[in-house]
Amino acid sequence: MPRITTLVRHLEARGLKVEYVPGWSTRGSSSFNPKGVMDHWTAGSKGSTTRPSLRVVTNGRPGLPGPLCNVYLDRRGVAVIVAAGRANHAGYGSWKGYTGNTYFFGIEAEAAGPSDWTDEQREAYPKLNAALLDAIKQDDASFVCGHSEYALPRGRKIDINGYSMDNMRAQTQAVLRGQKPSTKPSGSSKPKPESKPKPKPVKKQLNSTPPDGSTVFPTDYEDLILDKDFGKITVGAFQILMEAVKIGVRYNERWDGEWRQRTIKDAMEWLQANGYYKVTQHARAGVPKGTPLKVDGGDGYWFWYELQRFLKARGFYNKTNKGVPLKLDGDPEGWTIHGFQRYINTNNGE
Ligand SMILES: [Zn+2]
Repeated sequence: MPRITTLVRHLEARGLKVEYVPGWSTRGSSSFNPKGVMDHWTAGSKGSTTRPSLRVVTNGRPGLPGPLCNVYLDRRGVAVIVAAGRANHAGYGSWKGYTGNTYFFGIEAEAAGPSDWTDEQREAYPKLNAALLDAIKQDDASFVCGHSEYALPRGRKIDINGYSMDNMRAQTQAVLRGQKPSTKPSGSSKPKPESKPKPKPVKKQLNSTPPDGSTVFPTDYEDLILDKDFGKITVGAFQILMEAVKIGVRYNERWDGEWRQRTIKDAMEWLQANGYYKVTQHARAGVPKGTPLKVDGGDGYWFWYELQRFLKARGFYNKTNKGVPLKLDGDPEGWTIHGFQRYINTNNGE
């Protein structure tokens, strides 16, 4: 799906005050296929009546290219459209089976913390969720999630605590049904103390800094250059992703950028957790179709074949830049790595 350029119309139809950042309709990648909406806060300065975070959510910050959301909700409840294309806001996680920036609109509301919402924002937020669901013809508010509900591992993100997401979804559903949303605080009247610890700040991998053998993993990395090179940086970025997942995956304990048996085993388990790398897909070298595949840390034909299948199912291994269809050939050549790099980038960021 391309960028969603109908946002102004949909937001206005829900009665929102709408502004936009010039260039919004072409901002963000066109490889965008939103199925739901993810709610965030900016954790900006408290009580500000200006728009202190608008510039950063539009242009990004060092190491994380913008846009960082699709719509920014200011302190007066004005919805500022930032980008019609894919934005860097989700990072690794899962909601309704969807993973990554490709599948979610991102809303960033200007708030310093759990108790820092204005009445105007509380009134606008459910309407904004509903308007974005309208834009993708979705009338089920369960496709709205908070960043902390989505993010893996659990506790990686705390937004948007202080705003009960069950209440947010109920209010969004009410808007979708044509009822006026309540302006009452949607959480309990007293904001809940933040129970989840903030992840400790760790240094980030830049494309110029190769992995260093540390046991402390960065939480994200500068987007990989799509150079088809399966070097330390790409493997290091993949290890960061594995470290973040930790679901049914042993994950590599060292961030070393080495494509060795342990990292390959992690990759195999990760593919299995996603329904791939289970049995052979066709007969090969005397081995019949349907033979169970072993997690053995050897990156042979079947490993690369299944990785290609996995990437293809997610739209990252279809055609070369010149439009030539890519084959499932079990070959770890440039286009396989290119697709893998694109996939890793999609799961990067916030
Ligand atoms: Zn967030």
